[in-house]
Amino acid sequence: MTHADVLKAAGLTEAELQGGTLAVQSPIDGAVVAHVHETGPEQMPDIIARAQAAFKAWRSVPAPRRGELVRLLGEELRASKEELAAVVTLEAGKILSEGLGEVQEMIDICDFAVGQSRQLYGLTIASERPGHRMMETWHPMGPCGVITAFNFPVAVWSWNTALALVCGDPVIWKPSEKTPLTAMACMKILDRALARFGDAPDGLVQLVIGGPEIGAALVASTDIPILSATGSTRMGGQVGPQVAARWGRPILELGGNNAMIVAPSADLEMAVRAIVFSAVGTAGQRCTSLRRVIAHHSIKDDLVARLTAAYASLPIGDPRDAATLIGPLIDQASADRMAAALSDATAQGGTVHGGGAADCGIGGAYVRPAIVEMPAQTEIVRTETFAPILYVMGYDDLNAAIALQNDVPQGLSSCIFTLNLREAEVFLSAAGSDCGIANVNIGPSGAEIGGAFGGEKETGGGRESGSDAWKGYMRRQTNTINYSAELPLAQDVVFDI
Ligand code: NAD
Repeated sequence: MTHADVLKAAGLTEAELQGGTLAVQSPIDGAVVAHVHETGPEQMPDIIARAQAAFKAWRSVPAPRRGELVRLLGEELRASKEELAAVVTLEAGKILSEGLGEVQEMIDICDFAVGQSRQLYGLTIASERPGHRMMETWHPMGPCGVITAFNFPVAVWSWNTALALVCGDPVIWKPSEKTPLTAMACMKILDRALARFGDAPDGLVQLVIGGPEIGAALVASTDIPILSATGSTRMGGQVGPQVAARWGRPILELGGNNAMIVAPSADLEMAVRAIVFSAVGTAGQRCTSLRRVIAHHSIKDDLVARLTAAYASLPIGDPRDAATLIGPLIDQASADRMAAALSDATAQGGTVHGGGAADCGIGGAYVRPAIVEMPAQTEIVRTETFAPILYVMGYDDLNAAIALQNDVPQGLSSCIFTLNLREAEVFLSAAGSDCGIANVNIGPSGAEIGGAFGGEKETGGGRESGSDAWKGYMRRQTNTINYSAELPLAQDVVFDI
């Protein structure tokens, strides 16, 4: 299928794809596939006002009815899974099965959110006063701005939107300027769900296209009480304080620097498979990509030998080819950053295996993944380079390995490979991993939607997706009801008049 065929199958029209100011490149071959129309900053006040108007109607729709819209979205996604996944591959360069996996993640969160729409529950709490009852209720919060990164061009939107919608909040979505087409294709699918739903308010979910300046309008507006932003720590460092300064609620999902500790008892065969998928899957462009292996000195050389052998046979190339496991980086600037990081690593004492450009003969920024043996956790190891670089370090003592793992600015995902119960439990304990995700005998990437997703420190502290992440999209209210004929005060305070 040509790029044009893929876009047509996803329902995008010539008028939508041409005549605009934002050029969209496919990382597969570097071809410019569209010039889409950008949202003007002067349009933002109207867009935000429409979201506010939609909120006033949507907040009063019963939550299970709101869930019906998300159920229909899930159905439409199932029906268009292949078409949307093909656009993910075209625009983000993901291999076919990862493109399909991304859409499956959207379907999964829709299913989850439908159930959640009947479970927006609060607690009842014992009151200290006779004839009183205390309880918590959860209310819709208001429009939710969703700013997304290029590497999960649709799944992150769905994590936010499925929950925001059942929680009673309209959504304004600003996708990455590198992946507007996937977002436009996704809105077509949503439109079909909205048409079947029938009476959703106008402006319930809106899409705005453009770069940081369009995102900035969402960040600045007090009419957007929730701002979910996914991207680099650089972006989060700008957005988070601005939202906080206007008393908004930021949900930040930022960069990671994820590690695996490989203990002497580890099943090395399994560890190697987990390392390769986590480190080179999505060409190392996942927030949860494995970037550091901390291996016990007794097995480190064996592990590195197995990894270099496994890396040597990895098929790199056109992500549309079913045999490919490593597709392109998003652009040449990304490949340049990888090359710079490898030269920094060498200067900081590292020994590099692999790396460099992979000429696949079709254009695009294809690279060979790299393994770098490091004598210590130097500055470059502590930095997230969004490319397939895996740093390997050694350890003797588990506590020192955990300390090394935690000694980075980011705190997203982590794991240990061990068959030793004590080691596993220490890793998961209060003195263990400081990350939002900590796994045993599973790599750090490829989370299920059932758990809350997010991380600590410079990863931003936000939580999305499963568990009780829905609470981030609602406001909590404590209610105390007096059904007695007296008016006792709390803490036995006396105030007779
Ligand atoms: P990026 O920070 O360059 O851009 C992300 C989004 O933020 C884009 O839509 C961009 O237009 C917008 N943006 C940038 N500056 C802004 C500003 N000042 N105000 C408003 N909007 C602004 O990130 P990227 O290169 O698209 O994505 C890669 C990064 O995202 C990596 O660091 C990766 O770890 C991170 N990421 C994190 C998660 C997570 O859940 N923790 C998920 C995916 C990606």
